[in-house]
Amino acid sequence: MDCENNNANSVDFIREKVAADVASGRFGREITTRFPPEPNGYLHIGHAKAICLDFGVAEEFGGVCHLRMDDTNPTKEETEYVESIKNDIHWLGFDWKDHFYYASDYFERMYECAVELIKRGKAYVCALSPEEWEEYRGNLSTPGKNPPGRDNSVEENLDLFNRMRNGEFADGERTLRAKIDMASPNIHMRDPVIYRVRHAHHFRQGDKWCVYPMYDFAHCLEDAFENVTHSLCTLEFEIHRPLYEWVLNSLGWENPPEQTEFSRLNLNYTVMSKRKLLQLVKENYVSGWDDPRMPTICGLRRRGYTPEAIRKFINMVGITKFNGTTDMAMLEYCIREHLNAIAPRFMAVMDPLKITIENYPEGQVEWLDAVNNPEDPAAGTRKVPFSRELYIERADFMEDPPKKFFRLRPDGEVRLRYGYIIKCTGVVKDENGNITELKCTYDPESRGGTPADGRKIKGTIHYVSCAEAKRAEARLYDRLFTVENPGADGVDFLTQLNPDSLKVCDCWIEPALANCKPGDKVQFERTGYFCVDPDSSADKMVFNRTVTLKDSWAKQQDVQK
Ligand code: ATP
Ligand code: MG
Repeated sequence: MDCENNNANSVDFIREKVAADVASGRFGREITTRFPPEPNGYLHIGHAKAICLDFGVAEEFGGVCHLRMDDTNPTKEETEYVESIKNDIHWLGFDWKDHFYYASDYFERMYECAVELIKRGKAYVCALSPEEWEEYRGNLSTPGKNPPGRDNSVEENLDLFNRMRNGEFADGERTLRAKIDMASPNIHMRDPVIYRVRHAHHFRQGDKWCVYPMYDFAHCLEDAFENVTHSLCTLEFEIHRPLYEWVLNSLGWENPPEQTEFSRLNLNYTVMSKRKLLQLVKENYVSGWDDPRMPTICGLRRRGYTPEAIRKFINMVGITKFNGTTDMAMLEYCIREHLNAIAPRFMAVMDPLKITIENYPEGQVEWLDAVNNPEDPAAGTRKVPFSRELYIERADFMEDPPKKFFRLRPDGEVRLRYGYIIKCTGVVKDENGNITELKCTYDPESRGGTPADGRKIKGTIHYVSCAEAKRAEARLYDRLFTVENPGADGVDFLTQLNPDSLKVCDCWIEPALANCKPGDKVQFERTGYFCVDPDSSADKMVFNRTVTLKDSWAKQQDVQK
């Protein structure tokens, strides 16, 4: 499983179906899919699944995928979201060429289709209030009853629908209904509303309209207008498919698009509902849509995720009809694999303990050769300073260690990465007994880490040189929620936020790290993968921890094997 391979998507039931349609020439036009986000929030990792499928299928079959803003709902959409959606899709590595559309641009054509349905005796204007409708609709065990006005003449309906458009009715006073079957076992087929009166401003259409099409009516038309062949959507739309087909068949649409459903992506320890994500942003539980703890594409990007890792993850999850929840650890595994291949290694000390090498000449600095990435010889080497005063990790020293502790202990030896072997000769403490410094000596014959006499040194630790190191900020992230399924069983999801999801601490970095730019990805040796945050300044770099080095998911897979 290597990252270069992630464009080779595995074959799933949808790709099999498309391949069969291509072979039979069923549509007689190029394979056309679409990704139809509603511009009322930022894209998240769940959308990435739909994006990889929609754009991936089009690419693999030499077709095209349209990007369509599903902006038929007048009140909620915003331009900010449109821009972020375009940006995120491009970042993921996909392109809609010149097929960028707004569903609202089709309002006139949709209206004409509604008029056509009326003319064909397949739609009527209904005056029932939502409460009254409840009574007529029936329920799963009782068939509905035909509502009054269902058999009004075409002329009456045309006139009423025109008056709806002209603003003669208040919100909710009239609806246009598809005339299907009030006894259908599928409630969605019991004369569903296809147009409603809504005196609302639309972010692109302004006040031009006061009737708006319902999703089920609009969506199939959008697909049909754009000559879509395969309309891929998530499972909750399965029960709406008969209506999708009814609308297009009733209009006599030739060779209409076909809807196929697949299961949504769910991830544990996070939420994916746009409403909940918006609430986290608006109520300042996170710093914004791109907070690195968010499951949004921009959040993952800021956290240090790569498009390659996200695509590989989506590919590993696969496309099925089964609803389930995917382990966040699998996503972490994918980014770890990719960063292992591409991220240069550096040394940074998170919790410093000063050591003084008493036999090392004062004022001397040696610039040692360090390998940038053992996984990538082309990444080259860099120089790391070594001097008399260094910081090591506090956790790499123990005064009274257990048997298997191979790092530094009193009178013990350890190797300093790329440097020399040192021995701890003394422990300095403050008046409270806290260790403030270690006195050490070094073995001048061990440059590069190999002792001249061949004695065994088990441990290797990292360090920075006090004088050359720079202070930086590290933001250590953990899961945003403490439970696998936030908000389940009626619990308020906000009460399940992880209070320790962000820890900010100072760290000391080797000088070469100071040349990094926002977005750069690095490994802090032995600590984790980090990404330079845009909050970095010339005075202080800020690093987001993308993921730790420890891979719990791969381990778990090994156990299962
Ligand atoms: P809303 O609750 O606002 O409708 P949504 O998640 O359905 O939210 P859309 O903007 O309508 O958001 O989604 C665009 C497309 O992305 C849809 O085709 C939808 O099926 C797909 N999609 C959304 N969430 C997921 C998910 N978790 N897994 C797979 N596909 C998803
Ligand atoms: Mg939706």
